[in-house]
Amino acid sequence: MRIAVVSDVHSNLVALDAVLAHAGPVDAVWHLGDIVGYGPDPDGVVARLAQVGAVGVRGNHDAAAIGGDEIEQFNPEARAAMDWTRAAISEPTRAWLAALPERRAEAGADVTLVHGSPRDPTWEYLTSPGAARASFGYLETTHGLNGHTHIPLAFVLRDERIEAIRPAPGDTLDLAGLRAIANPGSVGQPRDGDPRSSYLILDPDAGTVTWHRVAYPIEAVQDAMAARGLPPRLAARLAHGV
Ligand code: ZN
Repeated sequence: MRIAVVSDVHSNLVALDAVLAHAGPVDAVWHLGDIVGYGPDPDGVVARLAQVGAVGVRGNHDAAAIGGDEIEQFNPEARAAMDWTRAAISEPTRAWLAALPERRAEAGADVTLVHGSPRDPTWEYLTSPGAARASFGYLETTHGLNGHTHIPLAFVLRDERIEAIRPAPGDTLDLAGLRAIANPGSVGQPRDGDPRSSYLILDPDAGTVTWHRVAYPIEAVQDAMAARGLPPRLAARLAHGV
């Protein structure tokens, strides 16, 4: 069984389509929130995820897009993009985002999906072993999947010890005998210095997680952002993966 896990698509349909094409035939698509915000195609991304039957959770940008006061914590450029997103999205897109839960347990795979962290699904950036240790206590499943940082990463709990793993493209984590919280990185706006889209494949039967990177035509997205009047710095950063 292969499950494509995507996060932080951020209205980047070109990148999402590149990832789905790279993943090939999969049994499911799971998303970890921040479907919208920053990018030029919020309706297109939601329509594609609905088309492939994706299930997942709500991120802070998704909450802001449907009117949440999360927008008050955005920096000026994120806020400008969110003001545009709020005005641009269709009613079906708004309803689809509003139906997303904060966390979603997938009992069959023994995995819980969140955007930020198991402890604080909307806002916490899970970047330290200490925060990861606390978050394992909030998981009712063995494993977790999270996004929000836009950086591929995993925290592993084995024999009471926490280990942080920075996966290279193609790396596989064997889940046997440990607990893990794994972050696929970002499809639509990577921030680890590599502009290629990042995602992972979970195989619950094999008990493995494998990270992947996919190049996509960034200029096409930058052009679409310029045409919609989105902040130039948000377009420029796509080329640098920051
Ligand atoms: Zn995000």
